[in-house]
Amino acid sequence: MYQHVTPYAGDPILSLVETFKQDPRPNKINLSIGIYFDNEGKMPFPNSVFQAAQRIENQVQPYLPMEGHAGFRAAVAKLLFGAESLVLQENRVAAVQTLGGSGALKLGADFIHRWFPQSHVFVSDPTWDNHRGIFEGAGFEVGSYPYYDPATIGVKFDAMCDFFRSLPEHSVVLLHPCCHNPTGVDLLPEQWDTILNIVAERQLIPFMDIAYQGFGDTFDSDAYAIRQAAKLNLPLFVSCSFSKNMSLYGQRVGALMVLAPNAAQADLVLGQLKFIVRRIYSSPPAQGVLAAQGVLGDTNLAAQWQNEVYEMRDRIRAMRLKLYEVLREKLPEKDFSYFVKQRGMFSYTGLSVAQVQRLRDEFAIYVLDSGRLCVAGLNEGNVETVAKALAQVFAE
Ligand code: PMP
Repeated sequence: MYQHVTPYAGDPILSLVETFKQDPRPNKINLSIGIYFDNEGKMPFPNSVFQAAQRIENQVQPYLPMEGHAGFRAAVAKLLFGAESLVLQENRVAAVQTLGGSGALKLGADFIHRWFPQSHVFVSDPTWDNHRGIFEGAGFEVGSYPYYDPATIGVKFDAMCDFFRSLPEHSVVLLHPCCHNPTGVDLLPEQWDTILNIVAERQLIPFMDIAYQGFGDTFDSDAYAIRQAAKLNLPLFVSCSFSKNMSLYGQRVGALMVLAPNAAQADLVLGQLKFIVRRIYSSPPAQGVLAAQGVLGDTNLAAQWQNEVYEMRDRIRAMRLKLYEVLREKLPEKDFSYFVKQRGMFSYTGLSVAQVQRLRDEFAIYVLDSGRLCVAGLNEGNVETVAKALAQVFAE
């Protein structure tokens, strides 16, 4: 019956996690997957989210509407666009609760493919692997635009601008407003201004995927690109995830926002998004979103939550600094300042595939083949070991 079904090669990141689990070495360190661990190496549950989750334990949950929880959708829109946002006052944002950030990407991708079937999608080179997967899965041809420059461990900004200028109208450009995954290399506000002006001139469709709000700088400044795009009245799509900043990984809590030129068009978009939802999973899950909404809808808990995220951000920064200090001491002739300049959970280390392999074989330290290291997996107990191993591998 199923002889013709081709085998699935597996996901590279998830497969590496399996290899890690099977590694018998007791001192092994996993810095491959994008999960935030605390200083004890545990996945923390922010106290604010825990409190909100407790309030709704053991309640029967009726179906949510296709578009999800109304209070949550409104609260997320404010978190992304700003509480005083004009586009929200004018009801120009179609907002849907989604199954994590991945669900938001898929819903947005399906919508664009249905209504702009000629469009192609362009993702940064490199990007989170599943960006390509999700958009190809929705039927798009996916290309990439110049982004990361290995020579400077920065952005190829001029090449990126030139590439955007060459794109046909309604091309979709997938952008990371903060904490670029996998490189940790972000655009500066003035670079965003330039890019968004090109997006406007060329009539491109910006799709901003924000999975780490609060981990870069502040909740407001991490949303700079989103708010600037709204000011420019761009046909903006935003996918967001609460997997990392609320530790709601398995609850699948995210949202998709689509900015329309007026309220009537936002309504049309919302209608079609509901139609897509209805034909795939009908309505989103309730438990996680009620916890998220319990936080966002309560002034005190929301403030507590933001501070808890800032503590995570600061812990990551401290680990970056520690890595940098050890490496600078061990290899003073090399410049490792990129470790402290990069933002968010990840760092592109500049390690080659051979160096990554050596780190794994000799030191039982797991990072991705691309050289992406999850800084959020470091702690006081392992950072020194990792830094010293990196120094040995970089010294080759
Ligand atoms: N976008 C980016 C950039 C991500 O890093 C991730 C998660 N690794 C996602 C989207 C998906 O988020 P979720 O796990 O909530 O589906």
